[in-house]
Amino acid sequence: MVALASSLVGRCAARLAQLDRALASEARGHRFDSCIARHHPHPFRGSAFCGMLETPRRSERAKFVEHRLMNVTFWGVRGSIPTPDSDHMRWGGNTSCLEVSVPGEPPLILDCGTGIRRLGQRIASAGASRVDILLSHVHIDHVVGLPFFAPLHQPDVNVTVTVPAFSDEEASEKITRYLNGTLHPLRLDDMNCKLVIAGMRPGQPFKRAGFEVIACALNHPGGSLAYRIERGGRSFCYVTDTAPLAAYGEGVAAGKAMSAAEERVSAFLQDADFVVFDTMFSEAEYVERMTWGHAYPEYAAALCAASGVKTLCLFHHLPSADDTRMDALSKHWQEAPGPMRVVVAREGETVEVGSES
Ligand SMILES: [Zn+2]
Ligand SMILES: [Zn+2]
Repeated sequence: MVALASSLVGRCAARLAQLDRALASEARGHRFDSCIARHHPHPFRGSAFCGMLETPRRSERAKFVEHRLMNVTFWGVRGSIPTPDSDHMRWGGNTSCLEVSVPGEPPLILDCGTGIRRLGQRIASAGASRVDILLSHVHIDHVVGLPFFAPLHQPDVNVTVTVPAFSDEEASEKITRYLNGTLHPLRLDDMNCKLVIAGMRPGQPFKRAGFEVIACALNHPGGSLAYRIERGGRSFCYVTDTAPLAAYGEGVAAGKAMSAAEERVSAFLQDADFVVFDTMFSEAEYVERMTWGHAYPEYAAALCAASGVKTLCLFHHLPSADDTRMDALSKHWQEAPGPMRVVVAREGETVEVGSES
Protein backbone atom coordinates (compact mmCIF):
# COMPACT_ATOMS: atom_id res chain seq x y z
CA MET A 1 0.00 0.00 0.00
CA VAL A 2 2.78 2.39 0.96
CA ALA A 3 4.85 1.41 -2.05
CA LEU A 4 1.87 2.13 -4.32
CA ALA A 5 1.15 5.54 -2.88
CA SER A 6 2.71 7.41 -5.80
CA SER A 7 1.24 5.15 -8.51
CA LEU A 8 -1.96 5.62 -10.44
CA VAL A 9 -3.92 2.94 -8.61
CA GLY A 10 -2.46 4.25 -5.37
CA ARG A 11 -3.83 7.70 -6.08
CA CYS A 12 -7.14 6.11 -7.15
CA ALA A 13 -7.33 4.31 -3.84
CA ALA A 14 -6.55 7.50 -1.98
CA ARG A 15 -9.61 9.05 -3.63
CA LEU A 16 -11.91 6.25 -2.49
CA ALA A 17 -12.61 7.76 0.88
CA GLN A 18 -13.43 11.11 -0.71
CA LEU A 19 -15.70 9.49 -3.32
CA ASP A 20 -17.36 7.29 -0.74
CA ARG A 21 -18.08 10.23 1.51
CA ALA A 22 -19.62 12.14 -1.39
CA LEU A 23 -21.73 9.19 -2.49
CA ALA A 24 -22.78 8.45 1.06
CA SER A 25 -23.92 12.01 1.40
CA GLU A 26 -25.80 11.95 -1.91
CA ALA A 27 -27.35 8.55 -1.35
CA ARG A 28 -27.82 9.03 2.40
CA GLY A 29 -26.14 5.75 3.12
CA HIS A 30 -27.82 3.58 0.47
CA ARG A 31 -25.83 0.44 -0.14
CA PHE A 32 -25.19 -0.82 -3.66
CA ASP A 33 -27.65 -3.68 -3.30
CA SER A 34 -30.44 -1.47 -2.05
CA CYS A 35 -29.79 1.06 -4.84
CA ILE A 36 -30.12 -1.68 -7.46
CA ALA A 37 -32.85 -3.65 -5.78
CA ARG A 38 -35.24 -0.74 -5.73
CA HIS A 39 -35.83 -1.14 -9.43
CA HIS A 40 -33.97 -4.25 -10.47
CA PRO A 41 -35.14 -7.80 -9.80
CA HIS A 42 -31.75 -9.23 -8.86
CA PRO A 43 -31.58 -11.41 -5.75
CA PHE A 44 -28.05 -10.32 -4.84
CA ARG A 45 -28.65 -9.06 -1.33
CA GLY A 46 -26.77 -11.96 0.16
CA SER A 47 -23.61 -11.19 -1.77
CA ALA A 48 -20.59 -10.54 0.39
CA PHE A 49 -19.58 -7.80 -1.99
CA CYS A 50 -22.86 -5.97 -2.34
CA GLY A 51 -22.27 -2.66 -0.65
CA MET A 52 -18.54 -2.80 -1.41
CA LEU A 53 -18.55 -1.17 -4.81
CA GLU A 54 -15.38 0.71 -3.98
CA THR A 55 -14.27 2.25 -7.22
CA PRO A 56 -11.75 5.01 -7.71
CA ARG A 57 -12.55 8.10 -9.73
CA ARG A 58 -9.73 8.72 -12.20
CA SER A 59 -9.03 11.86 -14.16
CA GLU A 60 -5.24 11.88 -14.55
CA ARG A 61 -3.02 9.77 -16.75
CA ALA A 62 -0.19 7.93 -15.08
CA LYS A 63 3.34 9.09 -15.72
CA PHE A 64 5.29 5.89 -15.77
CA VAL A 65 8.97 5.71 -16.49
CA GLU A 66 8.57 2.13 -17.67
CA HIS A 67 7.35 1.49 -21.22
CA ARG A 68 7.08 -2.21 -21.96
CA LEU A 69 4.48 -4.20 -23.79
CA MET A 70 1.45 -5.56 -21.96
CA ASN A 71 -0.13 -8.54 -23.70
CA VAL A 72 -3.45 -10.25 -22.98
CA THR A 73 -3.89 -13.83 -24.21
CA PHE A 74 -7.27 -15.57 -24.22
CA TRP A 75 -7.05 -19.21 -23.05
CA GLY A 76 -10.79 -19.49 -22.39
CA VAL A 77 -13.61 -17.21 -23.56
CA ARG A 78 -16.77 -19.31 -23.08
CA GLY A 79 -19.31 -18.57 -20.35
CA SER A 80 -20.71 -20.97 -17.77
CA ILE A 81 -19.77 -24.36 -19.26
CA PRO A 82 -17.18 -25.69 -21.71
CA THR A 83 -18.47 -26.24 -25.23
CA PRO A 84 -16.25 -28.84 -26.95
CA ASP A 85 -18.56 -28.87 -29.96
CA SER A 86 -17.25 -28.98 -33.51
CA ASP A 87 -19.27 -25.88 -34.42
CA HIS A 88 -17.80 -23.85 -31.51
CA MET A 89 -14.10 -24.49 -32.12
CA ARG A 90 -13.18 -21.45 -34.20
CA TRP A 91 -14.12 -19.07 -31.37
CA GLY A 92 -13.28 -21.46 -28.54
CA GLY A 93 -14.95 -23.79 -26.07
CA ASN A 94 -12.92 -23.36 -22.86
CA THR A 95 -14.24 -21.33 -19.95
CA SER A 96 -12.71 -18.12 -18.62
CA CYS A 97 -8.94 -17.86 -18.39
CA LEU A 98 -6.74 -14.93 -19.46
CA GLU A 99 -3.00 -14.42 -19.26
CA VAL A 100 -1.64 -10.90 -18.78
CA SER A 101 2.06 -10.75 -19.50
CA VAL A 102 5.10 -8.64 -20.17
CA PRO A 103 7.68 -10.37 -22.36
CA GLY A 104 10.28 -12.28 -20.38
CA GLU A 105 8.46 -12.08 -17.05
CA PRO A 106 6.10 -14.40 -15.12
CA PRO A 107 2.46 -13.91 -16.15
CA LEU A 108 -0.57 -12.82 -14.20
CA ILE A 109 -3.49 -15.21 -14.73
CA LEU A 110 -7.14 -14.19 -14.51
CA ASP A 111 -9.55 -16.97 -13.54
CA CYS A 112 -9.12 -20.74 -13.65
CA GLY A 113 -11.66 -21.90 -16.20
CA THR A 114 -10.89 -24.94 -18.31
CA GLY A 115 -8.59 -22.81 -20.46
CA ILE A 116 -5.97 -22.77 -17.70
CA ARG A 117 -5.00 -26.41 -18.33
CA ARG A 118 -3.09 -25.69 -21.54
CA LEU A 119 -1.63 -22.50 -20.11
CA GLY A 120 -0.36 -24.52 -17.14
CA GLN A 121 1.35 -26.99 -19.45
CA ARG A 122 3.20 -24.16 -21.17
CA ILE A 123 4.21 -22.47 -17.90
CA ALA A 124 5.39 -25.76 -16.39
CA SER A 125 7.50 -26.65 -19.41
CA ALA A 126 9.04 -23.17 -19.35
CA GLY A 127 10.26 -23.78 -15.80
CA ALA A 128 8.61 -20.79 -14.13
CA SER A 129 9.33 -20.40 -10.42
CA ARG A 130 6.43 -18.10 -9.58
CA VAL A 131 2.80 -17.82 -10.76
CA ASP A 132 0.09 -15.37 -9.69
CA ILE A 133 -3.62 -16.01 -10.21
CA LEU A 134 -6.53 -13.61 -9.60
CA LEU A 135 -10.07 -14.98 -9.35
CA SER A 136 -13.04 -12.82 -10.27
CA HIS A 137 -15.24 -15.10 -8.15
CA VAL A 138 -15.60 -18.80 -7.39
CA HIS A 139 -18.44 -19.89 -9.67
CA ILE A 140 -17.48 -23.27 -11.05
CA ASP A 141 -16.73 -22.12 -14.61
CA HIS A 142 -14.03 -19.81 -13.18
CA VAL A 143 -12.33 -22.31 -10.83
CA VAL A 144 -12.90 -25.73 -12.39
CA GLY A 145 -9.47 -25.78 -14.07
CA LEU A 146 -7.48 -25.01 -10.91
CA PRO A 147 -6.47 -28.61 -10.00
CA PHE A 148 -5.50 -29.21 -13.64
CA PHE A 149 -3.01 -26.32 -13.57
CA ALA A 150 0.34 -28.12 -13.81
CA PRO A 151 2.43 -25.63 -11.73
CA LEU A 152 0.25 -26.48 -8.70
CA HIS A 153 1.89 -29.90 -8.69
CA GLN A 154 5.49 -28.68 -8.98
CA PRO A 155 7.24 -28.56 -5.57
CA ASP A 156 9.56 -25.68 -6.41
CA VAL A 157 6.95 -23.31 -7.81
CA ASN A 158 5.42 -20.50 -5.76
CA VAL A 159 1.73 -20.08 -6.63
CA THR A 160 -0.43 -17.33 -5.14
CA VAL A 161 -4.19 -17.50 -5.75
CA THR A 162 -5.95 -14.26 -4.85
CA VAL A 163 -9.65 -14.68 -4.06
CA PRO A 164 -12.38 -12.12 -3.33
CA ALA A 165 -12.78 -12.59 0.42
CA PHE A 166 -12.67 -10.69 3.69
CA SER A 167 -9.72 -12.75 4.97
CA ASP A 168 -7.15 -15.33 3.91
CA GLU A 169 -9.09 -17.93 5.92
CA GLU A 170 -12.32 -17.20 4.05
CA ALA A 171 -10.39 -17.33 0.76
CA SER A 172 -9.04 -20.81 1.58
CA GLU A 173 -12.48 -21.93 2.67
CA LYS A 174 -13.94 -20.86 -0.67
CA ILE A 175 -11.38 -22.93 -2.61
CA THR A 176 -11.78 -25.88 -0.25
CA ARG A 177 -15.47 -26.09 -1.09
CA TYR A 178 -14.32 -27.40 -4.47
CA LEU A 179 -11.04 -29.15 -3.60
CA ASN A 180 -12.31 -31.25 -0.73
CA GLY A 181 -12.26 -34.83 -2.01
CA THR A 182 -15.98 -34.77 -2.76
CA LEU A 183 -16.47 -32.51 -5.77
CA HIS A 184 -12.94 -33.32 -6.91
CA PRO A 185 -10.66 -36.22 -5.86
CA LEU A 186 -7.83 -33.88 -4.82
CA ARG A 187 -7.84 -31.72 -1.72
CA LEU A 188 -6.15 -28.37 -1.32
CA ASP A 189 -3.44 -30.08 0.78
CA ASP A 190 -2.62 -32.38 -2.14
CA MET A 191 -1.13 -29.50 -4.13
CA ASN A 192 2.64 -29.92 -4.05
CA CYS A 193 3.63 -26.38 -4.93
CA LYS A 194 4.33 -23.61 -2.44
CA LEU A 195 0.74 -22.43 -2.40
CA VAL A 196 -0.64 -19.23 -0.88
CA ILE A 197 -4.38 -18.50 -0.93
CA ALA A 198 -4.90 -14.80 -0.27
CA GLY A 199 -8.12 -12.93 0.42
CA MET A 200 -8.61 -9.56 -1.23
CA ARG A 201 -11.22 -6.82 -0.99
CA PRO A 202 -12.11 -4.31 -3.69
CA GLY A 203 -10.79 -0.79 -3.54
CA GLN A 204 -7.44 -1.70 -1.99
CA PRO A 205 -4.57 -1.49 -4.52
CA PHE A 206 -2.01 -4.22 -4.59
CA LYS A 207 0.76 -5.59 -6.80
CA ARG A 208 0.93 -8.94 -8.51
CA ALA A 209 3.55 -10.14 -11.00
CA GLY A 210 4.83 -6.59 -11.41
CA PHE A 211 1.40 -5.19 -12.28
CA GLU A 212 -0.50 -2.61 -10.27
CA VAL A 213 -4.00 -3.91 -9.59
CA ILE A 214 -7.22 -2.63 -8.09
CA ALA A 215 -10.62 -4.36 -7.95
CA CYS A 216 -14.22 -3.21 -8.18
CA ALA A 217 -17.40 -5.06 -7.19
CA LEU A 218 -19.88 -6.03 -9.90
CA ASN A 219 -23.53 -7.06 -10.10
CA HIS A 220 -23.60 -10.87 -10.05
CA PRO A 221 -25.25 -13.54 -7.88
CA GLY A 222 -22.83 -14.30 -5.05
CA GLY A 223 -20.63 -11.34 -6.02
CA SER A 224 -17.86 -10.91 -8.56
CA LEU A 225 -14.89 -8.55 -8.89
CA ALA A 226 -13.58 -6.63 -11.88
CA TYR A 227 -9.83 -5.97 -12.04
CA ARG A 228 -8.01 -2.96 -13.44
CA ILE A 229 -4.41 -3.87 -14.24
CA GLU A 230 -1.77 -1.31 -15.18
CA ARG A 231 1.87 -1.24 -16.13
CA GLY A 232 4.04 0.93 -18.29
CA GLY A 233 1.25 3.45 -18.83
CA ARG A 234 -1.06 0.79 -20.28
CA SER A 235 -4.37 -0.13 -18.71
CA PHE A 236 -6.49 -3.26 -18.98
CA CYS A 237 -9.80 -4.01 -17.23
CA TYR A 238 -11.30 -7.48 -16.81
CA VAL A 239 -15.03 -7.15 -16.14
CA THR A 240 -16.81 -10.48 -15.71
CA ASP A 241 -19.28 -11.75 -14.55
CA THR A 242 -21.83 -8.96 -14.30
CA ALA A 243 -25.36 -7.95 -15.13
CA PRO A 244 -26.04 -4.33 -16.07
CA LEU A 245 -25.62 -1.88 -13.19
CA ALA A 246 -28.96 -0.15 -13.71
CA ALA A 247 -32.51 -1.34 -14.21
CA TYR A 248 -33.48 -2.16 -17.77
CA GLY A 249 -34.77 1.01 -19.42
CA GLU A 250 -32.74 3.16 -17.02
CA GLY A 251 -29.12 4.22 -16.91
CA VAL A 252 -26.49 4.76 -19.57
CA ALA A 253 -27.73 2.14 -22.06
CA ALA A 254 -31.13 3.84 -22.16
CA GLY A 255 -29.54 7.23 -22.84
CA LYS A 256 -30.41 8.42 -19.35
CA ALA A 257 -28.30 9.48 -16.40
CA MET A 258 -26.03 6.81 -14.99
CA SER A 259 -27.11 5.01 -11.85
CA ALA A 260 -24.83 5.43 -8.84
CA ALA A 261 -23.44 1.93 -9.49
CA GLU A 262 -22.75 2.80 -13.12
CA GLU A 263 -20.95 5.99 -12.11
CA ARG A 264 -18.60 4.02 -9.91
CA VAL A 265 -17.83 1.34 -12.49
CA SER A 266 -17.45 4.04 -15.14
CA ALA A 267 -14.85 5.76 -12.95
CA PHE A 268 -13.11 2.41 -12.60
CA LEU A 269 -13.03 1.96 -16.40
CA GLN A 270 -12.09 5.57 -17.16
CA ASP A 271 -9.85 5.93 -20.24
CA ALA A 272 -8.76 2.26 -20.14
CA ASP A 273 -6.92 1.03 -23.22
CA PHE A 274 -8.59 -2.38 -23.33
CA VAL A 275 -11.67 -3.68 -21.50
CA VAL A 276 -12.89 -7.29 -21.54
CA PHE A 277 -16.60 -7.28 -20.58
CA ASP A 278 -19.19 -9.99 -19.91
CA THR A 279 -21.68 -9.88 -22.80
CA MET A 280 -23.03 -13.41 -22.65
CA PHE A 281 -26.53 -12.55 -23.78
CA SER A 282 -28.12 -10.68 -26.62
CA GLU A 283 -30.31 -7.84 -25.37
CA ALA A 284 -33.44 -9.95 -25.97
CA GLU A 285 -31.93 -12.88 -24.04
CA TYR A 286 -31.01 -10.58 -21.18
CA VAL A 287 -34.59 -9.37 -20.89
CA GLU A 288 -35.65 -13.01 -20.50
CA ARG A 289 -32.92 -13.80 -17.92
CA MET A 290 -32.34 -10.64 -15.91
CA THR A 291 -31.53 -12.51 -12.71
CA TRP A 292 -28.74 -14.64 -14.22
CA GLY A 293 -26.07 -12.00 -13.68
CA HIS A 294 -24.79 -11.35 -17.21
CA ALA A 295 -24.88 -8.39 -19.59
CA TYR A 296 -25.23 -7.85 -23.34
CA PRO A 297 -23.08 -6.05 -25.95
CA GLU A 298 -25.15 -2.89 -26.28
CA TYR A 299 -24.96 -2.37 -22.52
CA ALA A 300 -21.18 -2.88 -22.35
CA ALA A 301 -20.68 -0.60 -25.36
CA ALA A 302 -22.77 2.21 -23.84
CA LEU A 303 -20.99 2.05 -20.47
CA CYS A 304 -17.50 1.74 -21.96
CA ALA A 305 -18.01 4.47 -24.57
CA ALA A 306 -19.23 6.83 -21.84
CA SER A 307 -16.08 5.98 -19.86
CA GLY A 308 -13.56 6.82 -22.59
CA VAL A 309 -12.54 3.21 -23.17
CA LYS A 310 -10.45 2.78 -26.32
CA THR A 311 -11.22 -0.86 -27.14
CA LEU A 312 -14.06 -3.02 -25.78
CA CYS A 313 -13.75 -6.80 -26.08
CA LEU A 314 -16.92 -8.91 -25.84
CA PHE A 315 -16.40 -11.97 -23.62
CA HIS A 316 -17.98 -14.89 -21.68
CA HIS A 317 -19.82 -16.15 -24.72
CA LEU A 318 -23.13 -17.97 -24.43
CA PRO A 319 -22.65 -21.77 -24.56
CA SER A 320 -25.22 -22.08 -27.37
CA ALA A 321 -23.54 -19.35 -29.46
CA ASP A 322 -21.96 -21.38 -32.25
CA ASP A 323 -19.32 -20.12 -34.67
CA THR A 324 -21.93 -18.81 -37.09
CA ARG A 325 -23.51 -16.65 -34.41
CA MET A 326 -20.07 -15.50 -33.21
CA ASP A 327 -19.06 -14.58 -36.78
CA ALA A 328 -22.19 -12.47 -37.09
CA LEU A 329 -21.56 -10.81 -33.72
CA SER A 330 -18.01 -9.93 -34.71
CA LYS A 331 -19.06 -8.56 -38.11
CA HIS A 332 -21.83 -6.47 -36.58
CA TRP A 333 -19.54 -4.77 -34.05
CA GLN A 334 -16.67 -4.36 -36.52
CA GLU A 335 -18.97 -2.10 -38.49
CA ALA A 336 -20.23 -0.13 -35.50
CA PRO A 337 -19.52 3.60 -35.74
CA GLY A 338 -17.77 5.63 -33.09
CA PRO A 339 -14.30 6.22 -31.74
CA MET A 340 -14.33 3.11 -29.54
CA ARG A 341 -13.33 -0.15 -31.22
CA VAL A 342 -15.38 -3.24 -30.36
CA VAL A 343 -13.86 -6.68 -30.87
CA VAL A 344 -14.85 -10.20 -29.82
CA ALA A 345 -12.67 -12.43 -27.64
CA ARG A 346 -11.43 -15.51 -29.45
CA GLU A 347 -9.61 -18.36 -27.73
CA GLY A 348 -5.91 -18.49 -28.60
CA GLU A 349 -5.56 -14.85 -29.60
CA THR A 350 -3.17 -12.36 -28.02
CA VAL A 351 -3.84 -8.63 -27.89
CA GLU A 352 -1.15 -6.02 -27.28
CA VAL A 353 -2.82 -3.60 -24.85
CA GLY A 354 -2.60 -0.01 -26.03
CA SER A 355 -1.64 -0.84 -29.58
CA GLU A 356 -5.22 -0.51 -30.85
CA SER A 357 -5.63 3.16 -30.07
ZN1 LIG B 1 -18.88 -17.16 -15.52
ZN1 LIG C 1 -20.41 -16.25 -12.31
